Amino acid sequence: MSLIVQKYGGTSVGDLERIQNVAKRIAKCVQTGTSLVIVVSAMTGETDHLTQMAEKITAKPNQREMDMLLSTGERVSIALLAMALQELGLSAQSFTGRQVGILTDSTHAQARIQEIQADRLEKALKEGIIPVVAGFQGINRQSDVTTLGRGGSDTTAVALATALKADLCEIYTDVDGVYTTDPNIVPEARRIHKISYEEMLEMASLGAKVLQTRSVEFAMKYHVPICVRSSFNDLGGTLVTTEDSEMEQELVSGITYDKNQAKVTLVGVPDRPGIAAMIFEAIAKENVNVDMIIQNVGQAGLTDLSFTIPNTDARRAKEILMALIEKLGVAEVALTEHISKVSIIGVGMRSHTGVAAKIFSSLAAEGINIMMISTSEIKVSCVIESKYTELAVRTLHEAFELGDKQEPQEESI
Ligand code: ASP
Ligand code: MG
Repeated sequence: MSLIVQKYGGTSVGDLERIQNVAKRIAKCVQTGTSLVIVVSAMTGETDHLTQMAEKITAKPNQREMDMLLSTGERVSIALLAMALQELGLSAQSFTGRQVGILTDSTHAQARIQEIQADRLEKALKEGIIPVVAGFQGINRQSDVTTLGRGGSDTTAVALATALKADLCEIYTDVDGVYTTDPNIVPEARRIHKISYEEMLEMASLGAKVLQTRSVEFAMKYHVPICVRSSFNDLGGTLVTTEDSEMEQELVSGITYDKNQAKVTLVGVPDRPGIAAMIFEAIAKENVNVDMIIQNVGQAGLTDLSFTIPNTDARRAKEILMALIEKLGVAEVALTEHISKVSIIGVGMRSHTGVAAKIFSSLAAEGINIMMISTSEIKVSCVIESKYTELAVRTLHEAFELGDKQEPQEESI
């Protein structure tokens, strides 16, 4: 008999009617003879609401208390869903992260799962009970509640699927899969039927918000197939799995964008060993995440250095560097806000040439200036002015003919 871990996101359990609908969906699936473990998020907006309450009490909430607070959101939805399932005559029980043995490190708000002691879940499954597990939470070695970072229920689901050796992990959300790009920008965007872990990892970390990045890393490491699909219809969704030759034939799989970017440029940086180390150590100490870094060829002992960071950290990064300017001997620190990063992703790039050239010429034809470029084996990212984001995404989507293909006829997975 097959075992599936199904995760339902916040919108899927957003109100009581939706919780009842999810229960019906689960009942239908159980009828086919599949064993299920259910993971749920807090009801939509609940985690934000709890955060706002804490922020009204203190500007700097204690992280331990914050995790205690945020973990309550999922407690509400598991209990309600278990009741809805019982109401349909099914045997179901809700469980907190602690009750299903999810042990994490102690990094509150960003905890990492270290171990899952799954015996209680296994026992419940043997007894024919449908476990309904709170996503996003675990406990550390001191039994304090921890949370796994925003969107962490995805990671709970994949981790449980790994621990239980499930056949599949289904992530139910309010979109019917992963798209070639944001359909709000490009209405012709197409649902991707199958995508590799590596591409999904790039998509997740580059701004496609459908899966928490950690969950994809986890799935890739342990080879857990993930299916992303909607809880509001019966479409087949997107299967995230191991790369195959079919995927390599596609030149480009998807286009993502991230508008939360800023560029810092240090002008007149002394061109000698240790300067870059000092700059990036100072930035790292303040937990600012640096993305692209470009250093020019030095001239007359000086060079320019630019890097991108999340826009939300831009002012802080500038302050850190301004305080260092004299010590470094740097002439000037310039900050450019309102930039965005557009990225083109595809495992096909490994075996095809000319992708970068096509990107640059397509953007040039629209008069879009590229400020920075970075590449990996399966990705090209360009930094451009924010106001051109939509145009760039549309242009590239069209240039690589991502929307043109006919949807293959398919059955629900
Ligand atoms: N409720 C948490 C959040 O909103 C976890 C999740 O939904 O995955 O981030
Ligand atoms: Mg999510």
